[in-house]
Amino acid sequence: MAVPLGKYSFGVGDRFAQQGKAQLRAFLLAAEQGVAITPVWNKSHREHTIVGSAPESARRAADEAVRALGWDKPYFVDADHINLATVDRFLESCDFYTIDVADAIGRPAEPEAIDAFLQRHPELTRPVEVAGLEEPLASSPETLRRIASLYLFPVQEAGRIYRHIEARKGRGGFLTEVSMDETGRPQGPLELLVILAALADEGIPVATIAPKFTGRFNKGVDYEGDVVQFEREFLADLAVIRHAVSQYGLPPALKLSVHSGSDKFSIYPAIRRALERFDAGVHLKTAGTTWLEELIGLAEAGGAGLALAKEIYSGAYAQREALCAPYAAVIAIDPARLPDPAEVTGWSAEQFVSALRHDPANPAFNPHLRQLLHVGYKIAAKMGERYLDLLRDCEETIARNVTANLYERHMRPLFLDGGRVVS
Ligand SMILES: [Zn+2]
Repeated sequence: MAVPLGKYSFGVGDRFAQQGKAQLRAFLLAAEQGVAITPVWNKSHREHTIVGSAPESARRAADEAVRALGWDKPYFVDADHINLATVDRFLESCDFYTIDVADAIGRPAEPEAIDAFLQRHPELTRPVEVAGLEEPLASSPETLRRIASLYLFPVQEAGRIYRHIEARKGRGGFLTEVSMDETGRPQGPLELLVILAALADEGIPVATIAPKFTGRFNKGVDYEGDVVQFEREFLADLAVIRHAVSQYGLPPALKLSVHSGSDKFSIYPAIRRALERFDAGVHLKTAGTTWLEELIGLAEAGGAGLALAKEIYSGAYAQREALCAPYAAVIAIDPARLPDPAEVTGWSAEQFVSALRHDPANPAFNPHLRQLLHVGYKIAAKMGERYLDLLRDCEETIARNVTANLYERHMRPLFLDGGRVVS
């Protein structure tokens, strides 16, 4: 059997594969406080393509960090957002697969398959009583048919991808996440239940499921939406997962995965309360924001580091449309709020750091600049060794920021400090 993921796990991205140790230090700090969080190093095909790296490099960096710090607990390397066309190059080096079928949502399954699904699940054609929910989930044959016509084909596609991986790695040789988050249409609790029933029918031992929650989960910035509604939905999702595990024989450790989960400070108290109430776990996938801590660390170092950080901003500003295109669904940048590169060139280290670091209490914080730099790593990738050399030169300031960002701003409010954001 696969090594279990554990109750709490964090997905961390490391675009240039230089911060594994600094990231792992945050997990060690949490462990010292008695909270076990499993590190999962995730990197998508999109990131590898933009950086020009191969999946083996993510595995190597993770193994090295684990060895260097003597981490003796489980850890994983996640082939993030893969599909049938991109999974093959991840088969050797990964042991966690995020099967992304968001693009298949709305492609109808064969009519006979939808009919068969309805026949197999009469319990979903009427209001569904779920323990922990005050009201039953309102379903009917028409509702179930509508949901199945949106989600049955994507689940079948997830089954094809799962079996492709399983044929190579063997059942139990890896963990499976199914993600449907990179889409405009949220999946509510009833949709989630139908999706889970269909995943069970496909025989996928799903470890984590990443639905699209209501509200916007933009990369590297706070949640935008109705926090009260989010909490209601998140609680209902936890109830649905518990129900689906017992109804459909899914793995008992199945848990929610929150994608683009870093920086969502305003919903961490809600997530924490909900997890406590259901004694549930969670996988929180941070959004590659470690790269922004590299920029902050470079800027803090001053001199050549600060100059390079400014140069990267200028480059990203000039290419903003091309850089933003692959991330259109998960960023919200107002170009009018981006400072002119000529102005940024004159900034002090403190001004640059204040604009970039995600401190909502700082009036100089600029979420537009932060999001642009978030997707602007291609500029640094093109600098090649010049960028990597400066990362090494400024390792001390960078590592401090990488560790503190994960531990202080994410792990503590979620698992240690009663929901208080510590900055
Ligand atoms: Zn995602």
